[in-house]
Amino acid sequence: MRILLVDPDYRNGFPPLGLMKLSTYHKIRGDFVRFVRGRDRMAAEETWDRVYVSATFTFSWKVILETIDFYRDCVQHPGEIVAGGVMATLLGDELEEHTGARAIRGLLDKPGMLDSGDRTCIDALIPDYQMLEDIEHEYALNDSYIAYATRGCPNDCPFCAVSAIEPEFVHYLPLKRHLDTIDKVFGPKQHLVLLDNNVLASDQFERIVGDIIDSGFGREARLNGRVRHVDFNQGLDIRLLTEDKMALLSDIPISPFRLAFDMISLEELYISRVVLASDYGVRNISTYVLYNFEDTPQDFYKRIRTSVELADRLDIQVNSFPMKYIPLNATDRSYVGKHWNRRLLRGVQCILLATRGVVSAKRDFFEAAFGATADEFIEICLMPDDYIIHRRRYETNGANEWRSDYRALSRDEKGTFLRLVGAGKIKDINLGPALPRRVRDLLAHYTSVARSGTR
Ligand code: SF4
Repeated sequence: MRILLVDPDYRNGFPPLGLMKLSTYHKIRGDFVRFVRGRDRMAAEETWDRVYVSATFTFSWKVILETIDFYRDCVQHPGEIVAGGVMATLLGDELEEHTGARAIRGLLDKPGMLDSGDRTCIDALIPDYQMLEDIEHEYALNDSYIAYATRGCPNDCPFCAVSAIEPEFVHYLPLKRHLDTIDKVFGPKQHLVLLDNNVLASDQFERIVGDIIDSGFGREARLNGRVRHVDFNQGLDIRLLTEDKMALLSDIPISPFRLAFDMISLEELYISRVVLASDYGVRNISTYVLYNFEDTPQDFYKRIRTSVELADRLDIQVNSFPMKYIPLNATDRSYVGKHWNRRLLRGVQCILLATRGVVSAKRDFFEAAFGATADEFIEICLMPDDYIIHRRRYETNGANEWRSDYRALSRDEKGTFLRLVGAGKIKDINLGPALPRRVRDLLAHYTSVARSGTR
């Protein structure tokens, strides 16, 4: 068979693990396999027996559909285009209806799911690292083993897709055997990235840590003179991070040490777990912080500030990575949580643009970017985009004036302003005399920056 593997051209640091396993599967079967990224004209001019498209993010709906459409004429029948991944799982019916392609829902973890009679469990295969050399695009992590020691998660958090994609919690997978096979075929990799959703929930956790150590990732592990790291990329569940498990984890070179702080109600627990990790020598913590779900902007600010204060107190790094919630079946990123509005979300995005997506653990940088209080944070988010992104350039050239105009608003005027600015599309607002003068003046900042690039 002639097999084409396509990773749509969206921004994704991860190599397409599913396609890499499919590549191994088809190469074992003796098929011809080619891998491309995005819409490749040369590949589209050929005919293929099957085209696989990775369909990861639901909000990349448009680009995935365009990609499928682009390769439609390369196969005899649209059903020979096969899409798999989170998006294909959550929106499989819609995808099939719009494209005629076949959606694979969930994992390819049983034999014969693609070719009846075949006895291979595709999910258990090693990924084909060599196929990444077919294209010029360089994925991050291409010098890392990317693997799982468990599958699924016993929890069912309302904002998480794991229970739909991997409904069964598998406590143990033979990680060492998997990594040994990769070593034999492709040579050793420098680091280990584990994509487990909730490794701490495994009743085989101690055995998993043993496998990691036996695979060459004990404390202070080195390869070719360089330090090796283990990254539990999806984060460790603070509710399950007991002292016993922390002691086991301290035997492997985890960096960064990833946690999640998704709800303000977990604040006390979060603080105690960061302190515990620090007691066991962890110096570099990265925390995922969900926002735009059921949280308020104030509690989002408080959660990221808590990490800054912990970093200060414990003299370690505790960076936050804000993650915007969007519903599991959303086909774009426009969802607005009930305590947020478009302007505030845009404001967070602008701050993160200026900080490259990371919330610094250094108090000075943090307060400069996010404000010294929750009120200041909200005030920053409400500013015109350029005032937030290019803070220095506009500080004395509009931003200070905006701030004093904003602070001078009466209660009613502020209500009007927030209603208008919160709905987004400020440029469409009629700045006519019906609006209070001070609100009009403030709104004029948005249109004048957009018009001239400066004031
Ligand atoms: S614990 Fe994590 S992986 Fe499990 S359901 Fe909740 S968010 Fe998802």
